[in-house]
Amino acid sequence: MTKLANRVQALTPSSTLAITAKAKELKAQGQDVIGLGAGEPDFNTPQHIIDAAFKSMNEGHTKYTPSAGLPKLKEEIINKLSKDNGLLYQPNEIIVGSGAKHVLYTLFQAILDEGDEVIIPIPYWVSYPEQVKLAGGTPVYVNGTEEQSFKITKEQLKEAITDKTKAFLINSPSNPTGMLYTEEELRELGQVCLDHDILIVSDEIYEKLIYDGAKHVSIASISEELKQQTIVVNGVSKSYSMTGWRIGYAAGNAEIVKAMTNLASHSTSNPTTTAQYGAIAALSGPQDKVEEMRVAFEERLNIIYDKLTAIPGITCLKPQGAFYLFPNAKKAADLTGFDNVDAFAGALLEEALVAVIPGSGFGADDFIRLSYATSLDQLEKAVERIHSFVLSKM
Ligand code: PLP
Repeated sequence: MTKLANRVQALTPSSTLAITAKAKELKAQGQDVIGLGAGEPDFNTPQHIIDAAFKSMNEGHTKYTPSAGLPKLKEEIINKLSKDNGLLYQPNEIIVGSGAKHVLYTLFQAILDEGDEVIIPIPYWVSYPEQVKLAGGTPVYVNGTEEQSFKITKEQLKEAITDKTKAFLINSPSNPTGMLYTEEELRELGQVCLDHDILIVSDEIYEKLIYDGAKHVSIASISEELKQQTIVVNGVSKSYSMTGWRIGYAAGNAEIVKAMTNLASHSTSNPTTTAQYGAIAALSGPQDKVEEMRVAFEERLNIIYDKLTAIPGITCLKPQGAFYLFPNAKKAADLTGFDNVDAFAGALLEEALVAVIPGSGFGADDFIRLSYATSLDQLEKAVERIHSFVLSKM
């Protein structure tokens, strides 16, 4: 039997997998499980995007494209970054990849040497630490506690910097917390990165999903210096309900983009051609569906938030973006006789038939993540089940 590479043996399996597999198993047994684990919008991709993809295929656009993406798509990305974020880029500063996830993967491969450190705030999206490790880097965690609204301060960032620090990763709005950094907070964090010449990687994938009048600011838009210091990562998955199309992009330093393009030329060749045509239609076409979906998420959030926080032992900061709730469930676990929140989440699935993701996978053991990217009807039913479960065990 071939021995697996150390690289993959050291990988931490996705924490969401165990619970998702268990939920599937229960469903297959005919149990009425409600899944609140989804990391994707429940709407279909808007029709005009699907039509544009079909049309491109019928017109014969079914071949390889340049590794960094179609010039027309790059042009639309440049237009988007200018219109939405006030950021001006040239085509050689843009790379399109197979989803923001793979763009981030390629970026870490392009910038990290063995032992280079990347500062990652907790709670973090599950893939960041593993991607950094796969590139030979070392994740350095900084705790964005609940008391500080899951955000880190400039002092914490400064303390985490060593002579090996290569990059700082920021994700606003955040998965899993839904928190947004303000312009002032970004300016302060950005200044620390400028002072120490640390690359900022800004994952802005949830940019369009923000609520209650909150404002998304791209850290790169704060000053020309910060723009030079930042790689902006974004994509069409969450804004346009296009998770399966696998189109993401990065914008920033031309040399880094060139290195990423070389890597892509030997790995993916190019992101799927048809999906790129879909993305052109998404970025250049009508934007009303984006707003319609955002409004639907906000309505669900407002209804479900009050019901969730009425459950004994559950407290939750109200998210300002994305489509997740990240409540503290430690007290609920204690009240119901579980040793920890992982066990509480396991029992929620087995006994209340509600699948939530334990916070341990995001570096925050006392929390659970609930996605509200499912129908209001299902959401209300799920929260009622959690409520009854907690009451029955107290
Ligand atoms: N970044 C964050 C914070 C995410 O939550 C996700 C998807 O879950 C991604 C990036 C990846 O998105 P994509 O579908 O473009 O790969």
